[in-house]
Amino acid sequence: MTSHLQHVDPEIFNAVQEETERQNARLELIASENFVSLAVLQAMGQVMTNKYAEGYPGRRYYGGCEFVDVAENLARERAKRLFKADHANVQPHSGSQANIAAYFSLIQYGDKVLGMNLSHGGHLTHGSPVNFSGRFFQMFHYGVGRDGYIDMNQVEDIALREKPRLIITGASAYARKIDYAAFRDIADRAGAKLIADIAHPAGLIAAELIPSPLPHCHLVTTTTHKTLRGPRGGMILIGKDQENDMGVLNPKGKLKTYSEIVDSNVFPGFQGGPLMHVIAAKAVAFQEALQPEFIDYQKQIIVNAQTLAKALMKRGYDIVSGGTDTHLMLVDLRNHGITGKVAEAALERAGLTVNKNMVPFDDQSPFITSGIRLGTPALTTRGMKGSEMEMIAGFIDQVLLNSADESIQMQVRRDVADLCSLFPLYNH
Ligand SMILES: *Cc1c(COP(=O)(O)O)cnc(C)c1O
Repeated sequence: MTSHLQHVDPEIFNAVQEETERQNARLELIASENFVSLAVLQAMGQVMTNKYAEGYPGRRYYGGCEFVDVAENLARERAKRLFKADHANVQPHSGSQANIAAYFSLIQYGDKVLGMNLSHGGHLTHGSPVNFSGRFFQMFHYGVGRDGYIDMNQVEDIALREKPRLIITGASAYARKIDYAAFRDIADRAGAKLIADIAHPAGLIAAELIPSPLPHCHLVTTTTHKTLRGPRGGMILIGKDQENDMGVLNPKGKLKTYSEIVDSNVFPGFQGGPLMHVIAAKAVAFQEALQPEFIDYQKQIIVNAQTLAKALMKRGYDIVSGGTDTHLMLVDLRNHGITGKVAEAALERAGLTVNKNMVPFDDQSPFITSGIRLGTPALTTRGMKGSEMEMIAGFIDQVLLNSADESIQMQVRRDVADLCSLFPLYNH
């Protein structure tokens, strides 16, 4: 397949080759990234990209949808089985698209929303002023306490005082389990709807290694490309589908179900034609996630994250909340006297890809930050285990203790390349 690309567009072909080599020769520690299987890659690079399929299986606005319907039905049914959900909408192009459709399924422009503070681990779509969420809604924010755990008293206080119409829970840089039942209790007492955004831990939840929000939330949104290890995309799930209690009627004058409301908000509400090749790849990824090996994979992600966190703490690094229950950790670098920005750049030169990240109560700007976020899903996909995590903690320590020393970065870079060569990617 790529030989056509090489012929038609050598510049793009070369960029793809170099990106393949970059992924192969470096250690990917960005917590939101992963490596999909060859089957998922193949499902994305095929002719379903040519097909317009506005609408849903069996009720499309275009002819010729019988085969893309097969793909979307498989994706929906597998997602429902994987998450024990009554309903799955697999069309959102991304996690952000899933969130915008989910918000507008439950609330109106200008309503009050309570979400997690971005600088405490929340996501842009949970109320950042530069995002639709912060511009379209009146946002309030909760955060973590000094111990690094979500401050549920603060959630309750703000919810009961401000009476938001919606509470959104979930995060991009939070390493602990979330008590969804407690969130639902607070939401009910405040008169709010509840969304959980499980973009990050979706794979851990599918494997039932951490609690699922589905029994407790009106809607659950996710990406499909983080721990879930599918193609880049989004999804909206409903645990128990039922008639809405918001007075939203269908054309026959009956109360719409939540699934009907969600489906019409995704299309035609916020999207046009679905990406059918990506939906086919989602189906493949969900099938992979339904296999017993996927549970072993997710267990190993957590073991690896806990091993890496312990090895760093042993070397004097401060991990927010003192560890992790999941696939990621936040390293607070303030006791090492370097910023997240400097750490990210030094690690990059040494072949370790991480992202700088705000830590709770950070005194630096989002462009500088005092921390880095580390995650293990991608390394675990390569087959790395505890002893590799110990080595990687050693690499990180060497680089961060000598962040201006290029010869150390070059030495670590060679060690990283040696380690990576033992765990090749896409070589079969
Ligand atoms: C990654 C993420 C998203 C957004 O996903 P995109 O596909 O990048 O739009 C939404 N919410 C949370 C919590 C995330 O971590």
